[in-house]
Amino acid sequence: MTKKKKKIIIISAISAAVIAAAAGTALWLLFGGHEHFMLSVRAKNATCTEDGNTAYWRCEDCGKYFSDSLGENEISLGDTVIPATGHHPQLVERVEAACTVAGNIAYWHCEGCDGNFADEGATQPLTEEQIAIAASGHAWDQGEVTKEPDCVNVGERTYICANCTQTKTESIAALNHDYSVTDYSETEHWKECSRCGDEENGSRAYHAFVADSSINACDCGAEIVYSQGLEYTYSAEDEGYMVTGAGSFRGQNLFIPQTYNDGTNGEHNVVGISATAFRYESALVFVRLPDCITKIEQDAFFYCTGIEVLSLPDGLERIEDNAFYGCQSLVQITIPASVSYIGEGAFAQCLSLQSATFENPVGWTGGGETVDFGDPAAAAELIIQGKAFSKEERN
Ligand SMILES: [Zn+2]
Ligand SMILES: [Zn+2]
Ligand SMILES: [Zn+2]
Ligand SMILES: [Zn+2]
Ligand SMILES: [Zn+2]
Repeated sequence: MTKKKKKIIIISAISAAVIAAAAGTALWLLFGGHEHFMLSVRAKNATCTEDGNTAYWRCEDCGKYFSDSLGENEISLGDTVIPATGHHPQLVERVEAACTVAGNIAYWHCEGCDGNFADEGATQPLTEEQIAIAASGHAWDQGEVTKEPDCVNVGERTYICANCTQTKTESIAALNHDYSVTDYSETEHWKECSRCGDEENGSRAYHAFVADSSINACDCGAEIVYSQGLEYTYSAEDEGYMVTGAGSFRGQNLFIPQTYNDGTNGEHNVVGISATAFRYESALVFVRLPDCITKIEQDAFFYCTGIEVLSLPDGLERIEDNAFYGCQSLVQITIPASVSYIGEGAFAQCLSLQSATFENPVGWTGGGETVDFGDPAAAAELIIQGKAFSKEERN
């Protein structure tokens, strides 16, 4: 190594630094012929519990310690020691916990090592968990309804913390409608909400016909309001009245009473609808006939294009030709079991008719070769005692 550096001096004088290094080396060789092999040891601060040291150098070859890199100032290892500082704890006051914020017990904290102690002498270390006083959580009261729920809107209950007066709210589920109330008009009934009056979807229906004709009311409680102004004719043969015309009646809802008294022939049942009685009465929408009616004569409701609901009476026996011809708004009919004859074209041109239900499918005759129920192309199905018949089958 030495020879090599000497060679550098001889061979090259390019770098002043190299020259200086070579000069130093030569000096060392003059003094002892020993070139130190220095290891540098960095300075290290003392901590509360561990000694530190100053920066120093140690020669690997001779084992001596120096305060400088050139080895000019020899020291002992002991000279490098910086003694541990020891803890310097400060008292941290107790802090009570709040609802949402943790507190702490009183303890001693040393900034030097960030250590916590139970005593000023720092002999009893404490963990963070041991120091902490957990948050107490809110002490909610019973709460108060601050917004009442209704049928469709949620309500709100507000709670107050007894400790910090903070509030919180919880929603109260909407009540949902209580469709327990039945209401009705002249022709229909429906369910509505007992609280808000909202009408229940799909609940609206025409009044049901009551099997017992002495009761002039629907199950819903609605009384039947009989049509006024109709024309009646007494039939001695039938010992009852025939309805012969609409007379002065102009309503949509035809409610024919069970009995009539013309002032001459006394009170008797209404037994039938005469031929052409309501022909072309297109304003009719709803037709209720009492159960004592046994016959509906030819063309009786011919082209009553507005009739949507037709419930035939349970005592009905004969439906004559074209009785309901052209009732284009009729969608569904039920033929009572009592019917024994259906005339030709009785339901012809009922273009909206989708189904006809026969309570007794084999107990009737008539209608010529076939009974024409509406437009054969339009009528989707004919239901006979729950069974659907195709157009071919029904003919
Ligand atoms: Zn040495
Ligand atoms: Zn410390
Ligand atoms: Zn609180
Ligand atoms: Zn409601
Ligand atoms: Zn009703």
